[in-house]
Amino acid sequence: MVEDGEKQKPFDAIVIGSGFGGAVTAARLVEAGLDVCLLERGRRFEPADFPEAPSPEQVLPDFARWRWAPKGGELGLWETRDLGDLLSVQAAGYGGGSLIYANVHLRAPEEAFEGWPDGWSRKTLDPYYDLAAWTIGLEVAPDEIRDTEGNALPILKAEQLKRASEGLGRPWVKLPIAVRFGDDGRTKERGRCVGCGACDTGCSYGAKKTLDQNYLEVVDRAASDPKRGQRVEVLTLAEAVRIEPGAGEEPFTVHYRDHLALEGEYGRGRVPVRSLRAEHVFVCAGALGSTELLARSGHERLSGLDMERLGEGFRANADSLGVVYDTAEAQQPHVGPTITGGMLYEGPSVLSQHGLAPGDPTAPPAPTAAEGAEVFLLVQDGGYSLPVVGGFQAVFRSPLWLGRNRFEERPADQLPAFGTSDGSVALAPPSGGRPNAALPVAIYRVLVANQLSPELRRIVGEQLKRWKDLGRPLYEAEESALLDAVLAATAEKAPDIVAEWCRWFGWFFKLRCMRWLVSRVASGLFEVAKPSIIKAVREAAISRYGLRDPAHLAGTAIRFAAGDRGASFVVADDTEPATGPRAGDHVAVLLSMGRDHGWGKVEVPSPAEGGPTRVRLELPRGMPVYATQEALLRDVAGELKGELRLNPDWSTNNRPVTVHAQGGCAMADAPGEGVTDGNGQVHGVPGLYVFDASAFPASVGVNPSHTIAALAERNVETFLDGHLKGEHRDKWRDAREAAKTAAAAWRRDFEKRGHSIDPLQLHLGDTAKPPKADPVGIRFEETMVGFVAPVEAGETLRSVADSFAVADIDIGAYLAAQHRGREAGTALELTLQAEAVDLRYFLDRPPHELALTGTARFIRGGVETESRPVIGTLELMGGTGGRRTMTYDLYLVDEDGRPQTEGPWLRGFKELSDHVGADAYADATTLYVAFTEGDDDEWGGVVRIPLDEFVEKQLPSMEATGTDDPAAQAWALAEFGAFFFGNLARTYAADLIAVAKSVGRRWTGQARALGVEQCDDGGKP
Ligand SMILES: Cc1cc2nc3c(=O)[nH]c(=O)nc-3n(C[C@H](O)[C@H](O)[C@H](O)COP(=O)(O)OP(=O)(O)OC[C@H]3O[C@@H](n4cnc5c(N)ncnc54)[C@H](O)[C@@H]3O)c2cc1C
Ligand code: SF4
Repeated sequence: MVEDGEKQKPFDAIVIGSGFGGAVTAARLVEAGLDVCLLERGRRFEPADFPEAPSPEQVLPDFARWRWAPKGGELGLWETRDLGDLLSVQAAGYGGGSLIYANVHLRAPEEAFEGWPDGWSRKTLDPYYDLAAWTIGLEVAPDEIRDTEGNALPILKAEQLKRASEGLGRPWVKLPIAVRFGDDGRTKERGRCVGCGACDTGCSYGAKKTLDQNYLEVVDRAASDPKRGQRVEVLTLAEAVRIEPGAGEEPFTVHYRDHLALEGEYGRGRVPVRSLRAEHVFVCAGALGSTELLARSGHERLSGLDMERLGEGFRANADSLGVVYDTAEAQQPHVGPTITGGMLYEGPSVLSQHGLAPGDPTAPPAPTAAEGAEVFLLVQDGGYSLPVVGGFQAVFRSPLWLGRNRFEERPADQLPAFGTSDGSVALAPPSGGRPNAALPVAIYRVLVANQLSPELRRIVGEQLKRWKDLGRPLYEAEESALLDAVLAATAEKAPDIVAEWCRWFGWFFKLRCMRWLVSRVASGLFEVAKPSIIKAVREAAISRYGLRDPAHLAGTAIRFAAGDRGASFVVADDTEPATGPRAGDHVAVLLSMGRDHGWGKVEVPSPAEGGPTRVRLELPRGMPVYATQEALLRDVAGELKGELRLNPDWSTNNRPVTVHAQGGCAMADAPGEGVTDGNGQVHGVPGLYVFDASAFPASVGVNPSHTIAALAERNVETFLDGHLKGEHRDKWRDAREAAKTAAAAWRRDFEKRGHSIDPLQLHLGDTAKPPKADPVGIRFEETMVGFVAPVEAGETLRSVADSFAVADIDIGAYLAAQHRGREAGTALELTLQAEAVDLRYFLDRPPHELALTGTARFIRGGVETESRPVIGTLELMGGTGGRRTMTYDLYLVDEDGRPQTEGPWLRGFKELSDHVGADAYADATTLYVAFTEGDDDEWGGVVRIPLDEFVEKQLPSMEATGTDDPAAQAWALAEFGAFFFGNLARTYAADLIAVAKSVGRRWTGQARALGVEQCDDGGKP
């Protein structure tokens, strides 16, 4: 046992981490005869050791085995990190990510290596991919698998997704995976796959070819062989906390926490920190772990490290997760290894395909090449083991989300009517009256959309009928003729009362308000109908959400409330038969990933600053790939005829979850451009290396383990080639060449058996075929009319569009032109349709531009002279804080619909700033225009949205596009409403908001004092 680094001869190398980077590095260093110490923070897991789902008697799972949270004494398998802008999941254990990964080994496409240092390409990496594939022994899943009893089970999920994919005109390929299906000579000793679906929670059958079965075995063998004359140590539960360079030629010192010393003793003492010394240190603690370790060391004594670059280029690999419920055919996601195959999309992003145009001034900006105008992404079949079926249901299909994460192309008229058992109550309120029932209806519709049981629906509906006045407080405070008129007009027009209400009260639909409404409904319901409600909830919990009993319900609620998103496991209903069809059969799990342009930075605070590590993610740069993924997942769900649910954290909070984190210590040829050089040595710190996912300069787009292993193979070879000397090096070189030859022969044999080691390079047909589903967007119409006239000598019409600050613009010139126009009877009417084809992109990416199409009508002396088609853009919320602008650029179009001129024909702006009096409505509807007419005469004036137009046409014209799903429509309108009215509120009611915030803070303080934890806007505790 290594106790004190000072007293021992330094190792040649310390390797930190035993995942793909660490296992490969340690194995090759050991094979080359070096003295090596491998430090791994997690424990060893044998097949029988993996954590299990809680038994029916347990309320909560055994966190100490499930979760890596050493401060709480939990030294388990999974680490789920809330990094602010995203969630990240990784493993802790001997074998790193291989213990919980889905076994897929894919080679990255050639384009993925753009921006990597010199000498890196797909071609130069291929021999190292071969070495990794051969050492691990990749296989391909059969169509059928034998369970523990020897029954042959078809892998339905793969078959179904292949069919769905082909139905969409997209080929489906089987992927190489690290699973033992047949006899590879070690089946007796290790075990074979029985298709239990538990690959991501640990294989209890020894069938996963985890790293401890191959690369790490080399290290273990050497460590347990005293006769080798080589010092090899493996320390598990040893967490490196700091690396210190020695003075001059002195070795590095690595300090580590020895969790083993105090396992089970937390709370009673401090974890001892020990130290070891080595000539070389290889940091392989994963993208997050390596970046954090270097940052902590840099904050202390590791000088030379470029702290500016450290953490940059962190990427989530555009990971996303969707679950399709109620599919027409059975999928059985719990039968077969977690992933067996996938489809490839390689083409323009849906944003580029849907009206956004690069460099076109008449269209909102499309993503640039740097942002991923061209998209590379994969969709793979996912799966899980039976015990976690209920957990997935509880998270993905929770009624808490109010349909926010749902895509379902079911026509609204198929939804049951509100509040009756016989379906007789109309959705629209009585003509002329106020839509008092609108909010209850909205709630009811959302509950229906969540497919609660008929019994629960009936009870909720009946109770809501009694709650006609629920919505009253929302508008009574603002009693006015205008509101009455709007409500009446809205009610009359309303085809779907949910959408109408969302239009007006979209921002009320933010999480906080929904909580308020739900709690009111819940408390009311419980008062009135306690026994039947409890029965119905229980029935719904069991039938729809797979929860077993109230104890489990309580356990799940506690875990959920505690934000324990990573490890929410509940046991499925055991009244279901062990074999044959199950309720969970009609569920398809879809895993997607792609080349991610959403640049991020890991920020590790110094000890003086304190606080947790955060990742700042520039999400808009990643939107093209996420938007295209969403469209493809919707296509697949449509093909399977099911309801798609996306990761709720993504849908509600815009936060991706990644299991494929990359970057943070990126390789770059020149110091100042990255953290390590092209061979993984840290710039400015000779002897310190980073050989894992953190070294990726760009996202590879595919499942990354294979590239991490190949990277480590390549860079450890370069290291050894420079480090070894004389005969020793010659011998090592010969052995290395022999291994490469054997690996290449193995690959050829693999392909001879009809498999492809690189299925993405096969001729896959039209991988650029655009997805069928449109992005979810919004559209509305507005008409503005007013007087215009030629500009007189000495007058100048300055515009915000010409980069003039609002304060420098003389509005008087516009008003004077308006006045002359009124006297001359020259009017301009603009009827425009504004559209954001992808709402999320629009919201996330300033300058928030909408596409405009419509007509400009000229009226002279009361007679319309001309109606001209126009196109253009509207920048909806320019400026900041108390001074906002909306700018319009309109182009006259020729017969082909193209702009007639290079520059805009008309430029207009609205100024939103808070002056004395009620000016919000007037500001938001008054457009100052300047345009050319006749022989380039300059005209100007003012056009406005008339109140009746606004109420009768503009508001009812607002619609969500790209989806038939009522919940998705309602949420789109709510999001847009929150954006628009939120900006108005911040401009015109800043004082009120400040008062509300201070009241809120006071309230929160009181609540805290009472032990109640409040949530912030993102719903995070
Ligand atoms: C659920 C899931 C499914 C996945 N499926 C796939 C898949 O099918 N195919 C694929 O290619 N990828 C998959 N991945 C991703 C894959 O696991 C990772 O990309 C890969 O493991 C990263 O390799 P790495 O060497 O960079 O880091 P890791 O494999 O994470 O290894 C880092 C190791 O370092 C240890 N460590 C961290 N900090 C310290 C410290 N301070 N001191 C000592 N030790 C430390 C960790 O415990 C860990 O063992 C999946 C990931 C998850 C979570
Ligand atoms: S499905 Fe996965 S976990 Fe189950 S036996 Fe096969 S490899 Fe192991």
